Amino acid sequence: MELEPVIGLEIHVQLKTRTKLFCRCEAAFGDPPNTHTCPVCLGLPGALPVLNTKAVELGVRAALAINCTVNRASQFARKNYFYPDLPKGYQISQYDRPLASNGHLDAGEPAVRVRLTRLHLEEDAGKSMHEGFPDSDVRSYLDLNRCGVPLAEIVSEPDIRTPGQAHDFLTHLKTTLQYVDVSDCNMEEGSLRCDANVSLRLPGGPLPGYKVEVKNLNSFRNVQRALEYEIERQGKILRDGGEITRETRLYDADRGLTSSMRSKEEAHDYRYFPEPDLLPLEVTEEQIESIRATIPELFAEKSKRFADRYQLPGYDAAILASSKALADYFEECAVQSGNPKASSNWIMTEMMRELKNRTIDVPAFPISPASLALLIRRIDDGTITGKAAKEVFAILCEGGGDVDGIIKEKGLLQIQDDSAIEAAVAQVIQANPKPAEQYRNGKTATLGFLVGQVMKATGGRANPQKAGELLKRALS
Ligand code: ADP
Ligand code: ZN
Ligand code: MG
Repeated sequence: MELEPVIGLEIHVQLKTRTKLFCRCEAAFGDPPNTHTCPVCLGLPGALPVLNTKAVELGVRAALAINCTVNRASQFARKNYFYPDLPKGYQISQYDRPLASNGHLDAGEPAVRVRLTRLHLEEDAGKSMHEGFPDSDVRSYLDLNRCGVPLAEIVSEPDIRTPGQAHDFLTHLKTTLQYVDVSDCNMEEGSLRCDANVSLRLPGGPLPGYKVEVKNLNSFRNVQRALEYEIERQGKILRDGGEITRETRLYDADRGLTSSMRSKEEAHDYRYFPEPDLLPLEVTEEQIESIRATIPELFAEKSKRFADRYQLPGYDAAILASSKALADYFEECAVQSGNPKASSNWIMTEMMRELKNRTIDVPAFPISPASLALLIRRIDDGTITGKAAKEVFAILCEGGGDVDGIIKEKGLLQIQDDSAIEAAVAQVIQANPKPAEQYRNGKTATLGFLVGQVMKATGGRANPQKAGELLKRALS
Protein backbone atom coordinates (compact mmCIF):
# COMPACT_ATOMS: atom_id res chain seq x y z
CA MET A 1 0.00 0.00 0.00
CA GLU A 2 1.34 3.37 -1.04
CA LEU A 3 1.56 5.83 1.85
CA GLU A 4 0.92 9.55 1.53
CA PRO A 5 3.37 12.09 2.99
CA VAL A 6 2.00 14.83 5.24
CA ILE A 7 4.33 17.81 5.47
CA GLY A 8 4.13 21.06 7.43
CA LEU A 9 6.86 23.72 7.57
CA GLU A 10 7.97 26.21 10.21
CA ILE A 11 9.96 29.12 8.84
CA HIS A 12 11.90 31.76 10.74
CA VAL A 13 12.81 34.97 8.96
CA GLN A 14 14.89 37.75 10.40
CA LEU A 15 13.09 41.06 10.08
CA LYS A 16 15.11 43.84 8.48
CA THR A 17 15.31 46.26 11.38
CA ARG A 18 18.35 48.32 12.33
CA THR A 19 18.05 47.37 16.01
CA LYS A 20 16.96 44.36 18.04
CA LEU A 21 13.40 43.49 19.08
CA PHE A 22 13.53 44.74 22.68
CA CYS A 23 16.66 46.90 22.97
CA ARG A 24 18.62 49.41 20.91
CA CYS A 25 21.58 47.15 20.09
CA GLU A 26 22.29 46.87 16.37
CA ALA A 27 20.92 43.76 14.66
CA ALA A 28 24.01 43.49 12.45
CA PHE A 29 25.39 40.31 10.90
CA GLY A 30 29.09 39.44 10.72
CA ASP A 31 30.54 41.82 13.32
CA PRO A 32 33.06 40.64 15.94
CA PRO A 33 31.42 38.45 18.62
CA ASN A 34 29.64 40.13 21.53
CA THR A 35 29.96 43.69 20.21
CA HIS A 36 26.18 44.26 20.08
CA THR A 37 24.97 43.46 23.57
CA CYS A 38 23.43 45.33 26.50
CA PRO A 39 21.76 44.50 29.83
CA VAL A 40 18.42 43.85 28.08
CA CYS A 41 19.59 41.32 25.51
CA LEU A 42 22.04 39.78 27.99
CA GLY A 43 19.10 39.22 30.34
CA LEU A 44 20.65 41.01 33.30
CA PRO A 45 18.32 41.30 36.32
CA GLY A 46 16.14 44.38 36.31
CA ALA A 47 16.59 45.21 32.62
CA LEU A 48 13.26 45.77 30.87
CA PRO A 49 12.33 45.13 27.23
CA VAL A 50 10.96 47.93 25.05
CA LEU A 51 9.22 46.79 21.89
CA ASN A 52 10.73 47.87 18.53
CA THR A 53 7.80 49.31 16.54
CA LYS A 54 9.63 48.86 13.23
CA ALA A 55 9.67 45.09 13.86
CA VAL A 56 5.92 45.15 14.42
CA GLU A 57 5.43 47.08 11.18
CA LEU A 58 7.54 44.57 9.23
CA GLY A 59 5.70 41.67 10.88
CA VAL A 60 2.36 43.13 9.83
CA ARG A 61 3.71 43.72 6.32
CA ALA A 62 4.89 40.11 6.05
CA ALA A 63 1.56 38.85 7.40
CA LEU A 64 -0.44 40.83 4.85
CA ALA A 65 1.78 39.64 1.98
CA ILE A 66 0.99 36.02 2.87
CA ASN A 67 -2.74 36.72 3.18
CA CYS A 68 -2.97 36.47 6.96
CA THR A 69 -5.48 38.23 9.15
CA VAL A 70 -3.62 40.61 11.45
CA ASN A 71 -4.92 40.34 14.99
CA ARG A 72 -5.70 43.70 16.53
CA ALA A 73 -4.41 42.41 19.87
CA SER A 74 -1.70 39.86 20.44
CA GLN A 75 0.39 38.82 23.41
CA PHE A 76 4.07 38.16 24.02
CA ALA A 77 4.83 35.05 26.05
CA ARG A 78 7.82 33.56 27.78
CA LYS A 79 9.03 30.26 26.40
CA ASN A 80 11.23 28.84 29.13
CA TYR A 81 14.15 26.56 28.42
CA PHE A 82 17.75 26.29 29.45
CA TYR A 83 20.47 26.59 26.87
CA PRO A 84 23.86 28.36 26.97
CA ASP A 85 22.99 30.66 24.02
CA LEU A 86 19.89 31.93 25.85
CA PRO A 87 21.17 34.05 28.76
CA LYS A 88 17.72 35.01 30.08
CA GLY A 89 16.66 31.38 30.44
CA TYR A 90 13.59 32.14 28.34
CA GLN A 91 12.79 33.40 24.87
CA ILE A 92 10.19 36.12 24.40
CA SER A 93 7.85 34.74 21.75
CA GLN A 94 4.12 34.67 21.11
CA TYR A 95 2.06 31.63 21.97
CA ASP A 96 -1.73 31.44 22.06
CA ARG A 97 -2.26 34.97 20.72
CA PRO A 98 -0.03 35.47 17.69
CA LEU A 99 0.31 38.68 15.67
CA ALA A 100 -1.46 37.15 12.66
CA SER A 101 -3.31 34.00 11.62
CA ASN A 102 -5.14 32.20 8.80
CA GLY A 103 -3.07 33.02 5.73
CA HIS A 104 -2.25 31.06 2.61
CA LEU A 105 0.06 30.92 -0.40
CA ASP A 106 -0.52 29.25 -3.76
CA ALA A 107 2.73 27.86 -5.09
CA GLY A 108 3.98 25.61 -7.87
CA GLU A 109 2.65 24.47 -11.22
CA PRO A 110 -0.14 23.44 -10.97
CA ALA A 111 -0.58 25.68 -7.95
CA VAL A 112 -1.12 24.03 -4.58
CA ARG A 113 -2.69 26.05 -1.79
CA VAL A 114 -0.79 25.84 1.48
CA ARG A 115 -2.70 27.30 4.41
CA LEU A 116 -0.67 29.24 6.95
CA THR A 117 -1.65 28.76 10.55
CA ARG A 118 0.05 31.83 11.96
CA LEU A 119 2.79 34.41 11.91
CA HIS A 120 4.21 35.51 15.24
CA LEU A 121 7.05 37.68 16.47
CA GLU A 122 9.87 36.41 18.63
CA GLU A 123 13.48 37.11 19.53
CA ASP A 124 16.43 35.09 18.30
CA ALA A 125 18.91 33.32 20.57
CA GLY A 126 22.71 33.67 20.48
CA LYS A 127 25.19 31.36 18.83
CA SER A 128 27.34 28.66 20.44
CA MET A 129 30.66 27.97 18.75
CA HIS A 130 32.15 24.53 19.29
CA GLU A 131 34.91 24.64 16.70
CA GLY A 132 37.78 26.77 15.47
CA PHE A 133 39.47 27.66 18.76
CA PRO A 134 42.76 26.23 20.08
CA ASP A 135 40.92 24.89 23.14
CA SER A 136 37.77 23.77 21.33
CA ASP A 137 38.18 20.29 22.78
CA VAL A 138 37.50 21.55 26.29
CA ARG A 139 35.56 24.80 25.76
CA SER A 140 32.67 26.21 23.81
CA TYR A 141 32.38 29.91 23.01
CA LEU A 142 29.33 32.14 22.82
CA ASP A 143 28.47 35.01 20.49
CA LEU A 144 25.44 36.86 21.81
CA ASN A 145 25.17 39.42 18.97
CA ARG A 146 22.15 37.57 17.61
CA CYS A 147 20.36 37.47 21.00
CA GLY A 148 17.18 39.50 20.69
CA VAL A 149 17.29 39.97 16.91
CA PRO A 150 13.69 40.15 15.66
CA LEU A 151 12.24 37.11 13.90
CA ALA A 152 8.89 36.35 12.36
CA GLU A 153 7.96 32.68 12.64
CA ILE A 154 5.58 31.44 9.98
CA VAL A 155 3.86 28.09 10.54
CA SER A 156 2.13 26.20 7.76
CA GLU A 157 -0.74 23.76 8.06
CA PRO A 158 0.25 20.19 7.11
CA ASP A 159 -1.02 20.76 3.54
CA ILE A 160 2.14 19.83 1.61
CA ARG A 161 2.21 16.36 0.04
CA THR A 162 5.58 16.07 -1.72
CA PRO A 163 9.16 17.26 -1.17
CA GLY A 164 8.90 19.09 -4.50
CA GLN A 165 5.86 21.02 -3.28
CA ALA A 166 7.81 21.96 -0.15
CA HIS A 167 10.56 23.37 -2.37
CA ASP A 168 8.08 25.31 -4.52
CA PHE A 169 6.34 26.68 -1.45
CA LEU A 170 9.59 27.88 0.14
CA THR A 171 10.73 29.51 -3.10
CA HIS A 172 7.43 31.33 -3.38
CA LEU A 173 7.44 32.38 0.27
CA LYS A 174 10.97 33.74 -0.04
CA THR A 175 10.11 35.66 -3.22
CA THR A 176 7.05 37.12 -1.50
CA LEU A 177 8.92 38.22 1.63
CA GLN A 178 11.68 39.77 -0.47
CA TYR A 179 9.10 41.58 -2.61
CA VAL A 180 7.71 43.32 0.47
CA ASP A 181 11.26 43.91 1.70
CA VAL A 182 10.77 42.58 5.22
CA SER A 183 13.78 40.25 5.22
CA ASP A 184 16.94 39.44 3.25
CA CYS A 185 15.90 35.78 3.42
CA ASN A 186 19.52 34.72 3.18
CA MET A 187 19.91 31.11 4.34
CA GLU A 188 23.71 31.35 4.54
CA GLU A 189 23.50 34.27 6.95
CA GLY A 190 20.69 32.62 8.87
CA SER A 191 18.10 35.27 8.03
CA LEU A 192 15.84 32.49 6.74
CA ARG A 193 15.63 29.12 8.47
CA CYS A 194 13.26 26.23 7.95
CA ASP A 195 12.25 23.21 10.00
CA ALA A 196 10.23 20.50 8.28
CA ASN A 197 7.63 18.23 9.88
CA VAL A 198 6.72 15.01 8.13
CA SER A 199 4.63 11.93 8.70
CA LEU A 200 2.98 9.26 6.53
CA ARG A 201 -0.63 8.14 6.34
CA LEU A 202 -2.97 6.11 4.17
CA PRO A 203 -3.98 8.37 1.24
CA GLY A 204 -6.66 10.79 2.39
CA GLY A 205 -6.68 9.33 5.90
CA PRO A 206 -6.69 11.23 9.20
CA LEU A 207 -3.64 13.19 10.37
CA PRO A 208 -1.11 10.72 11.80
CA GLY A 209 -0.74 10.77 15.56
CA TYR A 210 3.01 11.25 15.28
CA LYS A 211 5.28 13.62 13.37
CA VAL A 212 9.00 13.88 12.90
CA GLU A 213 10.57 17.33 12.91
CA VAL A 214 13.75 17.75 10.83
CA LYS A 215 16.15 20.54 11.68
CA ASN A 216 19.50 21.79 10.40
CA LEU A 217 18.28 22.42 6.87
CA ASN A 218 20.48 25.05 5.26
CA SER A 219 19.07 25.22 1.74
CA PHE A 220 15.76 24.58 -0.02
CA ARG A 221 17.47 21.76 -1.91
CA ASN A 222 18.35 20.15 1.42
CA VAL A 223 14.78 20.54 2.72
CA GLN A 224 13.68 18.57 -0.33
CA ARG A 225 16.42 15.94 0.07
CA ALA A 226 15.84 15.54 3.82
CA LEU A 227 12.11 15.04 3.22
CA GLU A 228 12.80 12.46 0.53
CA TYR A 229 15.08 10.60 2.92
CA GLU A 230 12.56 10.75 5.80
CA ILE A 231 9.66 9.55 3.63
CA GLU A 232 11.76 6.59 2.56
CA ARG A 233 12.90 5.84 6.12
CA GLN A 234 9.45 6.14 7.70
CA GLY A 235 7.84 4.15 4.90
CA LYS A 236 10.19 1.27 5.47
CA ILE A 237 9.51 1.19 9.22
CA LEU A 238 5.73 1.36 8.75
CA ARG A 239 5.68 -1.30 6.01
CA ASP A 240 7.68 -3.59 8.33
CA GLY A 241 4.96 -3.16 10.93
CA GLY A 242 7.02 -0.83 13.11
CA GLU A 243 6.00 2.32 14.92
CA ILE A 244 7.45 5.81 14.61
CA THR A 245 7.88 7.99 17.63
CA ARG A 246 7.46 11.73 17.80
CA GLU A 247 10.99 13.12 17.67
CA THR A 248 13.33 15.78 16.34
CA ARG A 249 15.97 14.68 13.84
CA LEU A 250 18.97 16.48 12.37
CA TYR A 251 19.78 16.43 8.67
CA ASP A 252 23.38 15.64 7.74
CA ALA A 253 23.85 17.19 4.30
CA ASP A 254 27.21 15.49 3.67
CA ARG A 255 25.84 12.03 4.28
CA GLY A 256 22.33 12.79 3.00
CA LEU A 257 20.54 11.33 6.02
CA THR A 258 18.75 12.29 9.22
CA SER A 259 19.58 11.09 12.72
CA SER A 260 17.73 11.37 16.00
CA MET A 261 18.50 14.47 18.07
CA ARG A 262 15.95 14.26 20.88
CA SER A 263 12.45 13.14 21.59
CA LYS A 264 10.32 16.18 20.85
CA GLU A 265 9.33 18.47 23.71
CA GLU A 266 5.67 19.12 24.29
CA ALA A 267 4.39 22.67 24.67
CA HIS A 268 3.98 22.21 28.44
CA ASP A 269 7.72 21.54 28.74
CA TYR A 270 8.24 25.21 27.93
CA ARG A 271 5.99 26.47 30.74
CA TYR A 272 4.65 29.28 28.56
CA PHE A 273 3.11 32.24 30.33
CA PRO A 274 2.25 35.82 29.27
CA GLU A 275 5.31 38.08 29.34
CA PRO A 276 4.78 40.26 32.43
CA ASP A 277 7.20 42.98 31.29
CA LEU A 278 5.29 43.80 28.09
CA LEU A 279 1.76 45.04 27.54
CA PRO A 280 -0.43 43.17 25.05
CA LEU A 281 0.52 44.28 21.54
CA GLU A 282 -2.20 46.33 19.89
CA VAL A 283 -2.33 47.41 16.27
CA THR A 284 -5.08 49.68 15.04
CA GLU A 285 -7.19 49.17 11.95
CA GLU A 286 -5.66 52.39 10.55
CA GLN A 287 -2.14 51.07 11.05
CA ILE A 288 -3.00 47.81 9.32
CA GLU A 289 -4.67 49.60 6.41
CA SER A 290 -1.83 52.09 5.97
CA ILE A 291 0.66 49.22 5.78
CA ARG A 292 -1.62 47.30 3.39
CA ALA A 293 -1.61 50.33 1.10
CA THR A 294 2.17 50.02 0.66
CA ILE A 295 2.19 46.34 -0.35
CA PRO A 296 3.44 46.31 -3.95
CA GLU A 297 2.21 44.13 -6.77
CA LEU A 298 3.47 40.64 -5.90
CA PHE A 299 5.03 37.91 -7.99
CA ALA A 300 1.94 36.06 -9.26
CA GLU A 301 0.17 39.21 -10.38
CA LYS A 302 3.28 40.75 -11.85
CA SER A 303 4.34 37.76 -13.93
CA LYS A 304 0.83 37.52 -15.33
CA ARG A 305 0.80 41.22 -16.17
CA PHE A 306 4.22 41.00 -17.85
CA ALA A 307 2.99 38.14 -20.02
CA ASP A 308 -0.19 40.01 -21.00
CA ARG A 309 1.01 43.57 -21.37
CA TYR A 310 4.38 42.86 -22.98
CA GLN A 311 3.37 39.79 -24.96
CA LEU A 312 6.00 37.56 -23.37
CA PRO A 313 5.90 33.77 -22.96
CA GLY A 314 4.74 32.79 -19.45
CA TYR A 315 8.09 31.20 -18.68
CA ASP A 316 10.02 34.39 -19.52
CA ALA A 317 7.57 36.58 -17.61
CA ALA A 318 7.96 34.38 -14.52
CA ILE A 319 11.75 34.66 -14.62
CA LEU A 320 11.64 38.43 -15.07
CA ALA A 321 9.21 38.70 -12.14
CA SER A 322 11.21 36.34 -9.91
CA SER A 323 12.62 39.23 -7.91
CA LYS A 324 11.34 42.74 -7.48
CA ALA A 325 14.73 44.18 -8.43
CA LEU A 326 14.83 42.24 -11.71
CA ALA A 327 11.19 43.02 -12.47
CA ASP A 328 11.77 46.75 -11.90
CA TYR A 329 14.87 46.63 -14.09
CA PHE A 330 13.01 44.91 -16.89
CA GLU A 331 10.04 47.21 -16.78
CA GLU A 332 12.14 50.38 -16.83
CA CYS A 333 14.15 49.03 -19.75
CA ALA A 334 11.04 47.90 -21.63
CA VAL A 335 9.33 51.26 -21.24
CA GLN A 336 12.40 53.34 -22.09
CA SER A 337 13.43 51.25 -25.09
CA GLY A 338 9.89 50.84 -26.37
CA ASN A 339 10.88 47.24 -27.16
CA PRO A 340 9.82 44.83 -24.38
CA LYS A 341 10.69 41.70 -26.34
CA ALA A 342 14.28 42.83 -26.99
CA SER A 343 14.56 44.01 -23.36
CA SER A 344 13.48 40.58 -22.18
CA ASN A 345 15.96 38.87 -24.51
CA TRP A 346 18.91 41.00 -23.45
CA ILE A 347 18.10 40.58 -19.77
CA MET A 348 17.43 36.84 -19.91
CA THR A 349 20.57 36.02 -21.90
CA GLU A 350 23.35 38.62 -21.68
CA MET A 351 22.52 40.21 -18.34
CA MET A 352 21.68 37.00 -16.46
CA ARG A 353 24.92 35.46 -17.73
CA GLU A 354 26.91 38.40 -16.38
CA LEU A 355 25.09 38.27 -13.03
CA LYS A 356 25.92 34.59 -12.76
CA ASN A 357 29.56 34.93 -13.82
CA ARG A 358 30.16 37.79 -11.43
CA THR A 359 27.96 36.27 -8.69
CA ILE A 360 26.26 39.61 -8.17
CA ASP A 361 22.64 40.67 -7.79
CA VAL A 362 20.67 43.11 -9.90
CA PRO A 363 21.47 46.23 -7.82
CA ALA A 364 25.21 45.66 -8.39
CA PHE A 365 24.86 45.19 -12.15
CA PRO A 366 27.03 47.85 -13.82
CA ILE A 367 24.61 48.74 -16.66
CA SER A 368 21.60 50.87 -15.73
CA PRO A 369 18.22 50.00 -17.25
CA ALA A 370 18.34 53.36 -19.06
CA SER A 371 21.68 52.46 -20.70
CA LEU A 372 20.46 49.06 -21.81
CA ALA A 373 17.31 50.71 -23.17
CA LEU A 374 19.41 53.18 -25.16
CA LEU A 375 21.54 50.34 -26.53
CA ILE A 376 18.38 48.59 -27.73
CA ARG A 377 17.16 51.81 -29.33
CA ARG A 378 20.47 52.15 -31.16
CA ILE A 379 19.91 48.73 -32.73
CA ASP A 380 16.29 49.49 -33.55
CA ASP A 381 17.08 52.85 -35.16
CA GLY A 382 19.80 51.29 -37.31
CA THR A 383 22.74 53.07 -35.66
CA ILE A 384 24.50 49.80 -34.84
CA THR A 385 24.06 46.11 -35.58
CA GLY A 386 23.14 43.50 -32.97
CA LYS A 387 26.69 42.24 -33.19
CA ALA A 388 28.20 45.63 -32.48
CA ALA A 389 25.72 46.04 -29.62
CA LYS A 390 27.22 42.98 -27.91
CA GLU A 391 30.58 44.71 -28.05
CA VAL A 392 29.13 47.87 -26.50
CA PHE A 393 27.43 45.74 -23.85
CA ALA A 394 30.73 44.10 -22.92
CA ILE A 395 32.42 47.48 -22.53
CA LEU A 396 29.52 48.82 -20.45
CA CYS A 397 29.84 45.76 -18.22
CA GLU A 398 33.42 46.70 -17.48
CA GLY A 399 32.03 49.99 -16.26
CA GLY A 400 33.30 51.99 -19.23
CA GLY A 401 31.49 55.04 -20.59
CA ASP A 402 28.10 55.58 -22.18
CA VAL A 403 26.43 53.95 -25.16
CA ASP A 404 26.84 56.71 -27.76
CA GLY A 405 30.36 57.51 -26.58
CA ILE A 406 31.48 53.89 -26.98
CA ILE A 407 29.85 53.60 -30.44
CA LYS A 408 31.78 56.66 -31.58
CA GLU A 409 35.06 55.82 -29.93
CA LYS A 410 35.12 52.23 -31.21
CA GLY A 411 33.88 53.20 -34.69
CA LEU A 412 30.91 50.86 -34.46
CA LEU A 413 28.46 52.85 -36.58
CA GLN A 414 26.54 50.60 -38.92
CA ILE A 415 27.69 50.90 -42.54
CA GLN A 416 24.91 52.75 -44.30
CA ASP A 417 26.69 52.92 -47.64
CA ASP A 418 25.81 49.89 -49.83
CA SER A 419 28.95 50.22 -51.90
CA ALA A 420 31.14 49.61 -48.84
CA ILE A 421 29.27 46.37 -48.16
CA GLU A 422 29.42 45.45 -51.85
CA ALA A 423 33.18 45.80 -51.70
CA ALA A 424 33.32 43.46 -48.70
CA VAL A 425 31.00 41.02 -50.51
CA ALA A 426 33.26 40.93 -53.57
CA GLN A 427 36.29 40.39 -51.40
CA VAL A 428 34.62 37.54 -49.44
CA ILE A 429 33.51 35.77 -52.65
CA GLN A 430 37.01 35.98 -54.02
CA ALA A 431 38.57 34.66 -50.83
CA ASN A 432 36.06 31.79 -50.51
CA PRO A 433 35.64 30.37 -54.00
CA LYS A 434 34.47 26.97 -52.78
CA PRO A 435 31.46 27.98 -50.64
CA ALA A 436 30.57 30.54 -53.31
CA GLU A 437 30.57 27.81 -55.96
CA GLN A 438 28.50 25.52 -53.69
CA TYR A 439 25.93 28.26 -53.27
CA ARG A 440 25.71 28.75 -57.02
CA ASN A 441 25.14 25.00 -57.37
CA GLY A 442 22.10 25.19 -55.09
CA LYS A 443 23.61 24.51 -51.64
CA THR A 444 22.07 27.69 -50.22
CA ALA A 445 23.05 26.77 -46.64
CA THR A 446 26.53 28.17 -47.30
CA LEU A 447 25.02 31.67 -47.42
CA GLY A 448 25.10 31.86 -43.63
CA PHE A 449 28.81 31.20 -43.63
CA LEU A 450 29.43 33.86 -46.28
CA VAL A 451 27.33 36.42 -44.37
CA GLY A 452 29.48 35.66 -41.33
CA GLN A 453 32.59 36.37 -43.39
CA VAL A 454 31.18 39.71 -44.57
CA MET A 455 30.37 40.63 -40.95
CA LYS A 456 33.92 39.74 -40.00
CA ALA A 457 35.37 41.77 -42.86
CA THR A 458 33.33 44.82 -41.79
CA GLY A 459 34.09 44.49 -38.08
CA GLY A 460 30.47 43.57 -37.37
CA ARG A 461 29.28 46.88 -38.80
CA ALA A 462 27.39 45.61 -41.84
CA ASN A 463 23.66 45.00 -41.55
CA PRO A 464 23.54 41.19 -41.79
CA GLN A 465 20.30 41.24 -43.76
CA LYS A 466 21.73 43.71 -46.23
CA ALA A 467 24.90 41.61 -46.48
CA GLY A 468 22.76 38.55 -47.29
CA GLU A 469 20.88 40.37 -50.02
CA LEU A 470 24.01 41.74 -51.64
CA LEU A 471 25.70 38.34 -51.50
CA LYS A 472 22.71 36.70 -53.18
CA ARG A 473 22.71 39.32 -55.87
CA ALA A 474 26.45 38.97 -56.46
CA LEU A 475 26.22 35.19 -56.65
CA SER A 476 23.24 34.97 -58.98
P1 ADP B 1 3.92 21.23 17.83
O1 ADP B 1 3.09 20.66 18.88
O2 ADP B 1 5.14 20.43 17.55
O3 ADP B 1 4.19 22.69 17.96
P2 ADP B 1 2.04 21.98 15.76
O4 ADP B 1 0.71 21.37 15.72
O5 ADP B 1 2.17 23.36 16.27
O6 ADP B 1 3.03 21.00 16.51
O7 ADP B 1 2.64 21.93 14.31
C1 ADP B 1 3.93 22.30 14.01
C2 ADP B 1 4.15 22.03 12.54
O8 ADP B 1 4.01 20.65 12.27
C3 ADP B 1 3.14 22.71 11.64
O9 ADP B 1 3.83 23.20 10.48
C4 ADP B 1 2.18 21.63 11.25
O10 ADP B 1 1.64 21.83 9.96
C5 ADP B 1 3.07 20.42 11.23
N1 ADP B 1 2.37 19.16 11.52
C6 ADP B 1 1.43 18.95 12.47
N2 ADP B 1 1.03 17.67 12.45
C7 ADP B 1 1.73 17.05 11.48
C8 ADP B 1 1.80 15.72 10.99
N3 ADP B 1 1.07 14.74 11.49
N4 ADP B 1 2.67 15.48 9.98
C9 ADP B 1 3.44 16.43 9.47
N5 ADP B 1 3.43 17.69 9.89
C10 ADP B 1 2.59 18.02 10.89
ZN1 ZN C 1 20.82 44.81 23.62
MG1 MG D 1 3.40 24.51 17.71
